[in-house]
This record gives sequence, structure tokens and C-alpha cells, in this order.
Amino acid sequence: MNFEDTGLKPEIIKGVRKLGFEAPMPIQEKVIAAMLNHRSDLVGIAQTGTGKTAAYGLPLVHLIESGQKKVQALILTPTRELCIQVADDITKYARYSNAIEVLALYGGASIENQIRGLKKGVHLVVGTPGRLRDLIKRKKLTIKSINTIVLDEADEMLSMGFKEDLNAILAEAPDSRQTLLFSATMPREIAEIADNYMNDPIEIAVGRRNVGAETVDHVYYMVNASDRYNALKRIADVNPDIYGIVFCRTRKETQEVADKLIGDGYNADALHGDLSQSQRDHVMNRFRIKNLQMLVATDVAARGLDVDDLTHIINYNLPDGSETYIHRSGRTGRAGKKGVCITIIHSREKGKIKMIEKKIRKTFEQKLIPSGTEICEKQLFRLIDKMETVAVDEKQIEPFLPVIYKKLSWLSREELIKHFVSLEFNHFLDFYKDAPDLNILQKAKKSKKKKKSKTTHNQEFSRFFINSGSQDGLEPAYLIGLINENTKKRDIEIGKIEIMKKFAFFEVDSDYADRIIKGFENAEYAGRRVVVELAQQKKEFGVIKRNPKKKKPGKKNKKSKKK
Ligand code: AMP
Repeated sequence: MNFEDTGLKPEIIKGVRKLGFEAPMPIQEKVIAAMLNHRSDLVGIAQTGTGKTAAYGLPLVHLIESGQKKVQALILTPTRELCIQVADDITKYARYSNAIEVLALYGGASIENQIRGLKKGVHLVVGTPGRLRDLIKRKKLTIKSINTIVLDEADEMLSMGFKEDLNAILAEAPDSRQTLLFSATMPREIAEIADNYMNDPIEIAVGRRNVGAETVDHVYYMVNASDRYNALKRIADVNPDIYGIVFCRTRKETQEVADKLIGDGYNADALHGDLSQSQRDHVMNRFRIKNLQMLVATDVAARGLDVDDLTHIINYNLPDGSETYIHRSGRTGRAGKKGVCITIIHSREKGKIKMIEKKIRKTFEQKLIPSGTEICEKQLFRLIDKMETVAVDEKQIEPFLPVIYKKLSWLSREELIKHFVSLEFNHFLDFYKDAPDLNILQKAKKSKKKKKSKTTHNQEFSRFFINSGSQDGLEPAYLIGLINENTKKRDIEIGKIEIMKKFAFFEVDSDYADRIIKGFENAEYAGRRVVVELAQQKKEFGVIKRNPKKKKPGKKNKKSKKK
């Protein structure tokens, strides 16, 4: 379907094109039809990122009669930020439409100015429930002549305590209006509002109900609670181009995590309710324009912060309910882009992950917190890439070059490279020298194995060769991670692991030998192809000196891991 087929006025379509929208998103097709054609009430289960603002905003602009200077449409939003965002978006849709006045009315700002704005004559009002009710009570805003009312993020409005205000506003609006309600979730109170104030609404769902976006990968890392912050740092270090929100549980924790990150030299800041409105605006603005890479925030403070191209959402702890998880993860992977939602958990929280998996009908991938070596490698190659592609302004540096060449002439090409790289990179190498393994997985597997070795001593193991070793940063925990990742199975019994400089051997339950071979067919580690073969073929390396009578390769091997 094209925008031209929707019935929207050409000047609105022109505005839409100016925004770069090519075709209507699925929710837009449905909502535009409901608003322009059959005018039935509508309940839309949709998260932010689905295109719902334009879905109701475009037809609202279409329906406004600019000759009549009275409020014809009302949009209710939970937060000031979303209110401003929606008003801005609608103003953009109306860019080529004749003199349509849009006004945002929210709490925490001068009511006098807003009253003055209303007096000038407004066609469309976007507001937060408390402030709207106040203005209606003061008789400064009348909604008696509205044709359409939109409740955006209705579940958020309820969870922020606006139920009474909502009911009062809905009761005040004329019965003849069309009501649209959008909500990411469908708690009982929302159904009640639909029952009480809506007229046989059609229900549409974008994506599946209560399900996160398809384009989001869900990942968790398991560490001891005391390692949480260090795990966060490593996640940030291994994703140097991260642009994301780190969600914390409390305002205090939010500030603490942000302070630590700032102190450790990260481009981060805090957003929470203890900050003044102007501080919050300042932080949000820095984040929007990408002056900030990581925003550490509480759920409430981050509401209404509408940023589309977040690469990551990080849950510093697991949120209490799966609804919150869905809401948070829905902030990445928007408008068809890929996103990653990362959760840091401790060992007793796996059950909660299972519950969320059920809700979102997607599986989480357990990843291992990268080792110091892995992070250094990533950062180092990023630096090299940057060095390769940096713009060189020949003209500007030309005058300085002769002196520089002379000064550095005692260094060979290789030495010169080493010096430049070290200059930028030494702090990373220093920091991660002898960095401990933060993963619980390794420890958990060890203890599991100890227990099992008593009962499964007759189990047959097959022994494999892998062409990566300690010089590639391979450690037992990574190897286990690689096996899990490539076999897509987490409970394969793993036996002895021996890591040499250039290669390694590992044993797994023989029942899974084929799965290992198949799983590693196209596997990669540290940027290169991994070769995994049954170890017997590699005997000629002469590395493994085992007594064939006592320990036949692939038979009854003791399940211990070499560190
Ligand atoms: P929303 O769900 O309203 O927050 O919209 C999510 C994002 O999708 C916003 O950045 C919109 O600008 C963008 N968007 C909305 N409709 C379209 C469309 N038809 N084509 C491309 N992008 C769109």
C-alpha cells in the first residue's frame, strides 16, 4: 500500500515524504482506515517504535477543519516528554497543511503561558492528564467540541496514577467523539476503560500481544552480584560504539552507576527523578544528539524519551515484571533496525529469564562476559580501523611534517606503529592485564561436573581438536561458550579441556560428537575460521601423551578441566 492509497490529503502526504516515510507501516494502514473511513473506536496494542504516532497523527491532521478555531482533537500522553514529542511530530505532519495550530499542555511548566496559548485558538491539543484536567476545571480548555480523543501509552498513564484524571476527561468529552486507545500491554484497567468509555472498539495488534520487537536479540550474562558493575564496563568496552540506555532499579543506584562510569572515563550520565526538570532536559538532549553514549536511567525518567536508533538496552538488574522488560527492550530494534537487549543476572535468576522467554516467545542467548584479551583485541582493531580511515588534511599538516619526520627518523616503520598504538592503547592493556573471569558459568559448570563425575563415570567422551589456543585468548570458559553457541545446546556434558598455545583439545559426551562437528562447520572465533576435528586425526602432533591402556581417547576420561 502507498500513502496515496490511504485517502490522506496530498499536502499531508507531502509532509510525510519530507520526513522520509516511503510507505505506511502496518499500524498506519489500519488506523488511518479506521479514522478516515468507518470512524469506529479502536484499541491498538502497540509499542513505541511501531509507527503509532503517525498512525493516529496523520488522520488527525487530515480531519482538522482549520477554518474552525476550536479544539477538535485531544491526545493524552503520560509524560511531558512524550507530549512534546507527539506535538512536534504532528506539527511536522501538518507542515504543508493550512495554519493548523497544535499545542502541548503539560505539568511542570507555566500554566499562564499555556492559557495564553489556548486563547490564541488551537485545533489540536496534546497533553498530560493532570494538566489537562486542571485547565478544563479552570474552564480555560473546553473539549466539548472534540471529534477525536487519543489515549497514547494508556498503560503508562495508569501506572503513573492518572486513572482518575483520565476518567474525568473521558467523561467530559462528547459522546459523539471517536476514541482511540494505544497501549503496549493490556492490563485489566485498560480493558475497563475500553468497556466504560469506548463504543464497541475494533482491536488491532501490531506484532504479537505482549511480545518484544522481532528485531531485538535478547542476551544475558550471569555474574556474581558484586561483579555487576565490572560486567557492565566490559560490555561497554566490547561494544565501543554503543548508544544505549542502562536501566537501574532506583534513583540512588542510577546515580551511583552513572558516577562510576563517568569516573572511569565513559561517556555516560544519569537520568532520574531526583534531578530537576532542567537537568533532565539537559541530559536527554545530550543523549538525543548523541553527545552521550550511555544514559543510565530509571524506567519512569526514561519514559517519553523517544530515540530511535539505540544499539543496546542494558538491564543492570532484571526488572521486576516481564511487562517492564518488554517495554525496555522495545526501545531498541525500532523501525526495522537491529537491537540488542542485554540483562545482567546472578545465578539464582535463571528462572526469571525463563518466565520472560515464555512471555516474549523468544529465547535468550547466554553470553560470556568477554575476557580482558577479547576486549583488548576489539579495542585495538577499532583503533587500527580508525587510524586507517582517518581523514588526513594534507594541507594543514604539511608545514609540520619535516620536523616530525626528522624527530621520528630513528624509529623503524614497525616501531613507529608500536609507539602510536601504545600511546592510545596502554591504558586498556594495563587495565585488563590479569583481569579475572567474571562469569559464573565456568564455576557453575565445574561444580556440576564434580557432582556428576561420581554418577556418570561410565560415560563415553569424544575428544576434539580445535585450531585456537591461549595465544588467541582461548580460555576454558570461552571454549564452553563456543561449544554452547555453535551446538545451540547448553547442557552437553563437557569433559577435559586442554589449552595449548596454538590449539586446544576438549572432550564432550560422545552422543553429541556429530553435533559438535556439524555445529562448528562454519564457526568463527576471534575473527577467523575455527576448525574442529576428532582428535584422533591429530595424534601426529604428538602433543597429547596419554596412556592408551588407561585412557583411550574418547573413553572414560576423567572430567576435569585444565585452567
Ligand atoms: P513511533 O512508534 O510513533 O514512535 O514511531 C517510530 C519511528 O518510526 C519514528 O521515528 C517515526 O518517525 C518512524 N516512522 C513512522 N512511520 C514511518 C513510515 N511510514 N516509514 C518510515 N518510518 C516511519
